[in-house]
Amino acid sequence: MNISHKHLIYLLVLTFFSTSYAATIEQLQQKVWYSGMADCNKDNHDAIEVHQYDQDTYILRQNMCLHSEAPFMYLLFGEQKALLIDTGATASKNSFPLADIVNKISLKRVKIRQHQPQTVSLLVVHSHSHSDHIAADKQFYNRANTTVIAPNNQQNMKTAFGLKNWPEQIAQIDLGNRLVNIIPSPGHLQDAITFYDHKTQWLMTGDTLYPGRLYINQWAQYKQSIDRLVKFSQNNRIAAILGAHIEMSSTPKKDYVMGSTFHPSEASLVLHREDLLELKAKLDKIAPSNQKHVMDKFIIYPVK
Ligand SMILES: [Zn+2]
Ligand SMILES: [Zn+2]
Repeated sequence: MNISHKHLIYLLVLTFFSTSYAATIEQLQQKVWYSGMADCNKDNHDAIEVHQYDQDTYILRQNMCLHSEAPFMYLLFGEQKALLIDTGATASKNSFPLADIVNKISLKRVKIRQHQPQTVSLLVVHSHSHSDHIAADKQFYNRANTTVIAPNNQQNMKTAFGLKNWPEQIAQIDLGNRLVNIIPSPGHLQDAITFYDHKTQWLMTGDTLYPGRLYINQWAQYKQSIDRLVKFSQNNRIAAILGAHIEMSSTPKKDYVMGSTFHPSEASLVLHREDLLELKAKLDKIAPSNQKHVMDKFIIYPVK
């Protein structure tokens, strides 16, 4: 093979990877998730919808008929470690077999990547300690090579990741050729955390920012957290902002009734940096009060 052939193949491979990467972000933007049923007796869908984004990245969503919060969970694999962000809203492994699904995905990866199962350990963390994000923790307590950072306020995360200066300090986990930042972002709840994955350039915001009702329990802290996320986004490219729920429909300003098990025509899970900037601009303008502010893609929803 001469040099120009080599060059051509290199270019083809490069083009394939760059277009497939761009296509997957676009696909994720367009992705329609299973959106439940008005009569859940008729529901026969899996407890957890699994979306493989790339070889090392999975998004899991709990079936709305199992729990109306229908939270999203994120599973990221590095060469040495896997990171599971959140464990959903249901504890029972019979009705909500989260650990089994994580095991199945891990085994599938072992076959593809020819890794020994024991080389990838699992770290279970949480976007915050609300019950719809931590319920299946127990399923992981006895799993081999697994660490569950229990969500008893922010203390455990501080200890585990050396966060001495909460909430200003940003910590980092290395999953093995894959870095993830831990960005404290209290306000929805005192112990809320945002994760940034350098591989996908996803900012995973839990209940701090998502297409839905942004319940704010600590106004001043929330505002500061959003300011810090904006600052972070000035130095780190954000390909997508991914939260833990969808409560908005694809019609601007329109959310579903609280507790609904049926979300016809949901808004996209994917938000962008512009949405974060819009949130910041609005927060800068309004005074802390118990008034709701309905925006096109989310609702600022102070609690109390
Ligand atoms: Zn929450
Ligand atoms: Zn939640």
